[in-house]
This record gives sequence, C-alpha cells and structure tokens, in this order.
Amino acid sequence: MSRNPHYIKMINSARWKQLRAKKLRSNPVCEVCESNNRSTIATEVHHIVPVESVPHEFGMRQLMFNYNNLQSLCHACHVEIHRRAFSHSKEAVQANNERATQRFVDKFLKEPSENE
Ligand SMILES: [Zn+2]
Ligand SMILES: [Zn+2]
Repeated sequence: MSRNPHYIKMINSARWKQLRAKKLRSNPVCEVCESNNRSTIATEVHHIVPVESVPHEFGMRQLMFNYNNLQSLCHACHVEIHRRAFSHSKEAVQANNERATQRFVDKFLKEPSENE
C-alpha cells in the first residue's frame, strides 16, 4: 500500500468510498474472473492506470476518481495484478526519480538568480 500522503488522503475520502461502492454495485462480479468464464464476487476496486503513475496531485486525482479507470476484482485477481505489475512499477519509479532530478536541476542549478 502506498505511503504517498495525497494517495492516503484520497483513498480515505468519502468521495472515493462512494465511487468505489458505486463501481461494486454496477460490476458486482470480478472482471478478470468473468473474462475467464468464472463468476466470483468482486470485493475490491482496482485502478487500471495506477494513481501513482503521475508525480503530481492533480494528475493523481484525475486517475483516482475516473470511473473508467476502475476495475471490480476479487481479492485473488487483485493481488495477482499487482504482483505482475511490480517489475513495471520499479521502472516507473526510476523514471519518476529521473524527472524529479531534472526538475531539481532546472530549478536550482540553471536559474540561480531566481533563488536569491
Ligand atoms: Zn477474480
Ligand atoms: Zn489495484
């Protein structure tokens, strides 16, 4: 689970709880199991594009609350999706770190006069 403070705030918000409940009401069967001709009750809602794939709060909010970015899943399928995404997320974290480094360079090393 994420420790990003924006993520934690959003995942605990009433807005997210309502959206999540709405999604589970509309799609009560796990979407992965369903595509494999199994009927399993969905208990969890997954973000297809990870909320933390963008580095800023505005973008995270768009991904968090976009109904089309949601997938109803059973616990087993949810765990499996995140297990498989792990190798990708390591690359995503690296890319984010590179961008953060570039911003730091732009801000503090290329425009010294603005920081005086
Ligand atoms: Zn499932
Ligand atoms: Zn998920």
